[in-house]
Amino acid sequence: MKQSYDGTPAGASGRLDTAVDILSEHPLYELMEPSPATDEQILRAHGRDHLERIRGGRGYREESLLFDVSALAAGGAILTAEIAVEGEPAFGLIRPPGHHASSDSCWGFCYFNNVAVSLLHLKATGRIKSAFILDFDLHTGDGNINILGHDEDFVIHNPRGYGDDAYLADVKRTLDASPDVDIIMASAGFDQYIDDWGSNLSTDAFKRIGELMYEFAMKRCEGRRYGLLEGGYNFQDLGKNVLAFCDGLREGKL
Ligand SMILES: [Zn+2]
Repeated sequence: MKQSYDGTPAGASGRLDTAVDILSEHPLYELMEPSPATDEQILRAHGRDHLERIRGGRGYREESLLFDVSALAAGGAILTAEIAVEGEPAFGLIRPPGHHASSDSCWGFCYFNNVAVSLLHLKATGRIKSAFILDFDLHTGDGNINILGHDEDFVIHNPRGYGDDAYLADVKRTLDASPDVDIIMASAGFDQYIDDWGSNLSTDAFKRIGELMYEFAMKRCEGRRYGLLEGGYNFQDLGKNVLAFCDGLREGKL
């Protein structure tokens, strides 16, 4: 049965409830409140026209709520990256997502590209030069590619494979073949889930993806690792899938 997500709008309210409930009550996780990203931080990934369009458009007096929540999500991505670059695992439980936002356009309920804003922030402030971006959302993050794909310091991979084993083998193979980078992060969509649009991965597979990122980070980039929430439309199970990924990312394979 897939009634838990069929027909539910991707941007529906309540989407984060199960994840917030599970993680806020968990003794090993601490929830933190970000500040909104500044214009300067957003403009590292987007054109001025795009930013002003989201803000409500030039010539309009009212700032839009859309801008406020999108800037706050981008600020959450920056806070997540700031924690991760010190070697602490971190996850950005943020919305709206950002992987379908390009420099000057956006779609799919995305407005600012949280992945690009966070990585370009670390790069502009001299903390990293390079990154591996594991995009495990069902839908390829075209915005991530459009903004970062031309820069050879950013490796972007959107794994393919039907079933846990094939999918995880693709992730592992690509990580093993990656050049050394300064940080690894996930554009973390959970819509490959068996009871979501992708009808593909188990909850345990998300844990395993986190573990593979942990192993990569420990060997290759001083433990620097984080994830940012993208898709995932089975609201009921999103919390347990996010927790599974975070557990793997935090402690690796015990
Ligand atoms: Zn998706």
